Amino acid sequence: MLPYTTVSAAESALGRTLTTAETLWLNHTANKSDYLLYCYNILFLFIIFSLCPLYYVLIEYLFGNSVGVYKIQPKVQLSFGEKMKCYRDVMRMFVLVVGPLQLVSYPSIQMIGIRTSLPLPSIYEIVAQLTVYFVVEDYTNYWIHRFLHCKWGYEKIHKVHHEYTAPIAFAAPYAHWAEVLILGIPSALGPAMVPGHMITFWLWIALRQMEAIETHSGYDIPWNPTKFIPFYGGADHHDYHHYVGGQSHSNFASVFTYCDYIYGTDKGYRYQKRLLQQLKEGTRNNEGKNQGLQNFLGQNPKAE
Ligand SMILES: [Zn+2]
Ligand SMILES: [Zn+2]
Repeated sequence: MLPYTTVSAAESALGRTLTTAETLWLNHTANKSDYLLYCYNILFLFIIFSLCPLYYVLIEYLFGNSVGVYKIQPKVQLSFGEKMKCYRDVMRMFVLVVGPLQLVSYPSIQMIGIRTSLPLPSIYEIVAQLTVYFVVEDYTNYWIHRFLHCKWGYEKIHKVHHEYTAPIAFAAPYAHWAEVLILGIPSALGPAMVPGHMITFWLWIALRQMEAIETHSGYDIPWNPTKFIPFYGGADHHDYHHYVGGQSHSNFASVFTYCDYIYGTDKGYRYQKRLLQQLKEGTRNNEGKNQGLQNFLGQNPKAE
């Protein structure tokens, strides 16, 4: 809760005029507890888990023929009912695990020192902190994910997430409850190392989940703005991890590609990409004769 409730009190405390954003923030949060503001994440996550995957359902429904060329595993088509079942399972996990985790994890946010006060962070500060959060999360998630692919980790926990060998957007948060809890650690590590404002924290939780949904969408859409982010893995990178399945020792990273490159866990993926490129070039010259290789690779040579 802010130590002042009016604009004039805030301006005299800061010694300057409030910006429009700061005035809006003050008016909205002055009488709300920090705990309540932290719990906004539950609402944001519910909206993101529900609406972002719907975007992919809609473009599939409305522009099926034109976006179909960007589907990474075109041979796997789930029905609307199957997608809704995935959403129901995710929502059950949301109510039983994600929501309660948010409700009880507030003391850690207090300990970290996430602030709700004025002044608001600058855009520069927000972008710099979000970059740190993504890099820290990507690195730690890489190693936890690798651990989850050991025999015990996979059989007991991670195989639930791998039920979708051709992932869909709704399946991004589809996982065993223990995995949901474990992967909360890398998400909290960045904010713990570089604590910021509650707005930055909200953005971090929202953007990370939106990134995961895009990564699991099953579509490698060329006009996606994430294509401009250096070393960004995206749907194509993570889709391969699901495609290989339980035996996968490839493409463990959640966001970027460099960990898999440095630790040599993207060799299968890069080999497959080379084969797909050859197939694509061969298809141009020799239409139809490469069907066997295409079936073996299971992926769409046009989706690059
Ligand atoms: Zn995995
Ligand atoms: Zn996944």
